[in-house]
Amino acid sequence: MLNYRLQTENDTDAFCQKLLPLLESPCVIYLHGDLGAGKTTLSQYLIRAAGHKGPVKSPTYTLFEEYQTPHGHFYHFDLYRLKDAEELIFIGIEDIAKEKAIFLIEWPEQGAEYLPNADLAVYIKLAQTDRELSIESTSEKGSKLLEQL
Ligand code: ADP
Ligand code: MG
Repeated sequence: MLNYRLQTENDTDAFCQKLLPLLESPCVIYLHGDLGAGKTTLSQYLIRAAGHKGPVKSPTYTLFEEYQTPHGHFYHFDLYRLKDAEELIFIGIEDIAKEKAIFLIEWPEQGAEYLPNADLAVYIKLAQTDRELSIESTSEKGSKLLEQL
């Protein structure tokens, strides 16, 4: 487990620029943290670090957004509004999960067993004046990656 202090969004950006080159598809990252912790912001900086030029919208209402970037295909999920984990079946999660992509998943606890297993888990906690980010590996691939971070 590695820990970082994020005082501003610039720190989130710097963290994402370090992490991005280590990510190889397929890779699944669960993003944990309360509303407002900074999960979407981190996803935005990662997708931009991958070379995406346009906007990165919060997928709160659409469940997911897709991006084709110079660093590969990204799926950004936000499951906050998912009412029933089975809804994931209807949006085709089984096929999506087989794709060679980088998956960023906010509120993964809402998706339960229908989600692909994570390689990395990120936890962001809002502290008094700044944010604490922890990242841990949850697969062999993830632990090799963390060794290089
Ligand atoms: P979440 O997706 O976890 O609900 P967001 O990424 O939407 O949270 O962020 C909520 C707010 O916090 C946004 O206004 C965002 O600009 C701000 N924020 C996110 N990360 C940071 C950071 N590292 N430093 C300062 N503000 C941040
Ligand atoms: Mg969010």
